[in-house]
Formats: sequence, structure tokens, C-alpha cells
Amino acid sequence: MTITDVEAIELRLPEIDASRCDGTQDTLVIRVRTDEGFVGLGEADSVPAIVKACIEAPPSHAIASGLRTLLLGENPLDIERLWNKMYSATIYVGGGPMMHAMSGVDLALWDILGQVTEQPVCRLLGGIYQDRVKAYASAIMPTSPKEAANLAEALAKRGYQAMKFGWGPIGQSVDNDQKSIQAIHSAVGNSIEIMIDAGGSWKRKEALRMIDLYEQYRVLWLEEPLAASDLEGYRWLSDRSHLLISAGERESGRRQFAKLMDEGQVDIVQPDLARCGGFTEGKKIADAVLDRHKRLVPHAFKTGILQMASTHFVAGISNGWMVEYTVSDSPLARDLVKSPLTFKDGYIQGYDSVRGLGITLNEDIVARYRVS
Ligand code: MG
Repeated sequence: MTITDVEAIELRLPEIDASRCDGTQDTLVIRVRTDEGFVGLGEADSVPAIVKACIEAPPSHAIASGLRTLLLGENPLDIERLWNKMYSATIYVGGGPMMHAMSGVDLALWDILGQVTEQPVCRLLGGIYQDRVKAYASAIMPTSPKEAANLAEALAKRGYQAMKFGWGPIGQSVDNDQKSIQAIHSAVGNSIEIMIDAGGSWKRKEALRMIDLYEQYRVLWLEEPLAASDLEGYRWLSDRSHLLISAGERESGRRQFAKLMDEGQVDIVQPDLARCGGFTEGKKIADAVLDRHKRLVPHAFKTGILQMASTHFVAGISNGWMVEYTVSDSPLARDLVKSPLTFKDGYIQGYDSVRGLGITLNEDIVARYRVS
């Protein structure tokens, strides 16, 4: 079997608010076609137009190339060899967007492997460790405490047992941050796990003060309290905090995650499969996490493609904990893919009986939002 095409499909809502940290307003879908009719799907969480160029650019020379020409004519089942080929042939332009592009391709190749072997990706990754995966609701923090309380209540009614609120107004006013967590906590009580994502808002001592506050409300973890580059700060904070600290959604490649754990001492690492290097690199990151006795919860705030990939990943590694489930009402997040998976009582199930990722593209949504 050989790869006959690698398509980079850019989707974008007609009106986007680029000031919001909301990755569900656009995406780059990767579709890999083969001569035997198998079609794999992946996506990259990045700037779609940049990643599209990483896929489509013609080669410049041996270690500076776009990905498409490297993949045409190759056997799609040679997944790790192809990962290494892409990595080696892009050294001059690697990291960042190129690794995001490789991630999307890698997800699509695993999807093909699952279809060819008639197995779900989670089984191929390592076996089905969990029959159902806990999904936590992930939302942008509303502007006012009242709206935050209403949203928390609505999510609890939909069955979520854990929920995370992030970005938005967090970090702009201590008073508002305090009132928001208070309002959320009084809306859903202690029965629901609450997480806060600060999006790198604070400096070290500010973050420590916020940790004291969040501990009172039994927050399960605090995500990205500091700038991602402040590894020394993460270690400083971790030494002083009982609250679990998470980070890693911006990183690519296993070495960055090792640094995050060894130098930053974060408790929970959050590789995004559409950025970190796909399943192939994600598995190596999961092993590194296991060796260090830390926790792993993949970051996922995009479309149903990444949602399903993350679900397979959590189910198919020995240390998968929960999966992030964006509650964005963007049609790209809600309707881009069709899948037989079901959500019930805060858990996702049904992935054990699919082939590959178990998703098909909704071509109406593609036609409506495709821009290139
Ligand atoms: Mg985050």
C-alpha cells in the first residue's frame, strides 16, 4: 500500500474573535489517501495557514522540506519510520509549526493502521486499559462570576463530574478571580471536580497567593499559572504548593516534556496530540511521565478529530487519567465529525468497537467552512 495524497484542509468560521484564546474557531484537517482506498484523518492545532505551508511546501534540500513530498509513495503503515523521516528532513525548519504538521499526519497514519487491521487505535497504542474514559468539560471562563456559576450548573446537569474554566478574565483581577471560584464552588459544591487554567497569567508570588485561594475551594489542579518559559518558576511554585500544577499544552517533542518534569517539576503534563508529535511521540511522552511518577492528561481544544484521538490515547496508555472535552458551541467543535462514541454520566465509551479513530468527516461542514 502506498500514500497517494496528503491534503491540508483549512477550515475557519466566517467571523472569528482572535483576541479570545479559543482554538475551536478554525482548524487544519489532514487527510491522507492511499492506493487501496483507506483514508486517514488528523488535525493540527496551530495557525492553519502556516501548517498548511509546512505540508505543501516543495523540498528545498535534504534537511529542509515540506512534508507532502516526503510521504507520497511511502507505505502508510511504516508509521515510526515515517515520523523519523519527517523529523530528519525538516531539521532546519523543525519544531513549532512543522511538528504541529507532523502531528496531524501521524494521527492520520494511525487512523489508517487501525482501519487496515480492523482495530481501534487505542488497542494498537497499547491495549484497552479503560472501558470508558472520564471526560472533563473544558470552558473559557465567563466574564462575570454569575455567568460562571450558571455555566457550572448547566455542565453538571449535562452529567460532567469534572470541569475546567480557563483564560477569559482570569489573571486580570484578584477580586474577580476570587468571586468566580466562589460562585462556581457554591453552584456545584464538592461533588464536582473543578480545575482552573490561568493561561500563564501570573508571576511567581501572585501565583502562590492564588494557589492558597484555590486550595480553599478544593480545586483539583491549577493549569499554567506561570509563563511556559519560566521552568525555574514552576519548580519554585511546585516546592511550595500542595495543589497539583499542570502545564505542557504548548510543547512539542518528548525532550521538552522531560524538561517540564525534570526542571519545572510539574505534577501533570498535558501534551496536545495535534501539536506534540501525534500518537507516536505521545506514547514516548507517556512513558517518560510513567518513569517519573507524574500524571498525564492530554490537552484537546479543537474539533472532534482531536477529541477522538485524545480519547483513544487516554484509553490506550497505562497512565491515561481523563480527557479534555471542549464545550465550545462552534460547529467545528460540535459537528465536523460523525462518530459512534457516546457520552454518559461524565464518561466517553464505545471506542473499543471502532476501526481506526472511528470518525468520518461531515462533508457539509467541510464545504461550508473551507477557506483553502
Ligand atoms: Mg490550558
